[in-house]
Amino acid sequence: MSAPVTAKRLDGRQVADAIAARVTERVAALEVAPRLVFVRVGEDPASASYVRSKQRLAQRVGLRAETLVMDADTDQAALMTTVRAVVEDDDVDGVLVQLPLPEHLDERPVLEAIDPEKDVDGFHAVNVGRLWSGLPGMVPCTPLGLLEICDHFEVPLLGQRVVIVGRSNLVGKPAAALFLRRHATVTLAHSRTRDLAGLVSEADVVVAAVGRAGIVQGSMVKPGAAVLDVGMSRIDGRIVGDVAPDVWEVAGSMTPMPGGTGPVTVAMVVQNTVTAAERRRNKV
Ligand code: NAP
Repeated sequence: MSAPVTAKRLDGRQVADAIAARVTERVAALEVAPRLVFVRVGEDPASASYVRSKQRLAQRVGLRAETLVMDADTDQAALMTTVRAVVEDDDVDGVLVQLPLPEHLDERPVLEAIDPEKDVDGFHAVNVGRLWSGLPGMVPCTPLGLLEICDHFEVPLLGQRVVIVGRSNLVGKPAAALFLRRHATVTLAHSRTRDLAGLVSEADVVVAAVGRAGIVQGSMVKPGAAVLDVGMSRIDGRIVGDVAPDVWEVAGSMTPMPGGTGPVTVAMVVQNTVTAAERRRNKV
């Protein structure tokens, strides 16, 4: 018989709905609806599905949103030309190039071609620098969503020990910068980390962002800790997180997978777009 679930469920859909409601009001307050353009290369089904859900929510909150789909064999020069044209269009407030790109394409120059003010994914080096310097800028959606979840469910961060498993530019590193801003004591773990279990067991807040099912086990987690599951894997057609099911029996609160960090990430894309539009329009 399985042990009872004790962790409070940090429902991402609930958080995403609250964000969408706020964003809808901000969009309505603007004279012209912000315009968001997605650029997607190839037919990777996961990327296509992410872009579809972002575009759906964008339209629900009143943004103008469209997706440019480029062939899988698009070369670097053609992609750069398209991205630059979108970025230079004064009517466009936000640009998002869906990652990962096909292997023959180099993502860095593409990300650097996006105007930092329109960079709703927050991956441009200028925005990375602003984030670490504590300056206003565009902040990556998944990490920003983690803070939204903590705020919504009143997960304390000040002075807390946060262990983030995974150090990517997409998730782990920007999440570390954001939790530091909130005065948490942050540790980043990665594939060369020794004694991951020992580290995780000291955490008040655990972020799992690896992409390996069950890398965080119940035996590793401090009783009562908050656990935010970012990693996603597909097993037998089912989406599972990095956090093993037995963590529900130990943690104080936890995001489900699916229905946790994913929907909040999508909501942050539309929030970042309206923020970008407000900033651009207030400048002129
Ligand atoms: P990534 O670039 O592949 O990074 C994975 C990180 O995990 C790396 O830093 C890697 O360490 C680390 N890692 C690998 N094996 C490890 C191990 N045994 N112990 C500790 N750390 C280990 O992936 P990503 O783009 O950050 O995405 C991570 C996961 O989150 C993926 O499953 C992705 O699909 C998912 N994701 C979810 C959302 C969401 O909204 N929920 C959003 C974005 C991504 P090294 O740096 O040493 O290689």
